[in-house]
Amino acid sequence: MTTNTDQGPTRSRRQFDALKKAINPEAFYRREIQNVPAQLKINNEGWTQNLRCPFPSHDDTTPSFGFNVKTGACRCNGCGESCGSVIDAAMSLHRLDKIEAYDYLKSSYSVELGAAPVRFPRFFVFQGSVLMLPVFLSAER
Ligand SMILES: [Zn+2]
Repeated sequence: MTTNTDQGPTRSRRQFDALKKAINPEAFYRREIQNVPAQLKINNEGWTQNLRCPFPSHDDTTPSFGFNVKTGACRCNGCGESCGSVIDAAMSLHRLDKIEAYDYLKSSYSVELGAAPVRFPRFFVFQGSVLMLPVFLSAER
């Protein structure tokens, strides 16, 4: 999808911060791990109750993993894995480097950030003029 040339693999600190802000930690963990109950107990600091650890290296028989709905951090008292953000978590869960995790999160969670506006307008103009606009107009009028 992306090429590893000069323009490719750098993301600014600001882009990472914007991505972190754009992704709701609870939504992230609900999607990424299987066992999050509908009624999640959360303490004052934002930490969830203990859940079964999602890290593949840990066969967790007694739930010992929790995440923070405010910060996106995670930690497991069983295996000692921890992460500081949803980006860290994506790196650990999917064995990605930081850039890959950024791209994974951005595309998986449909995050629109200021840095890459090219894709949407191109898609929109193509679809709009050729396909969607006529459909839209005929449906509306
Ligand atoms: Zn663990």
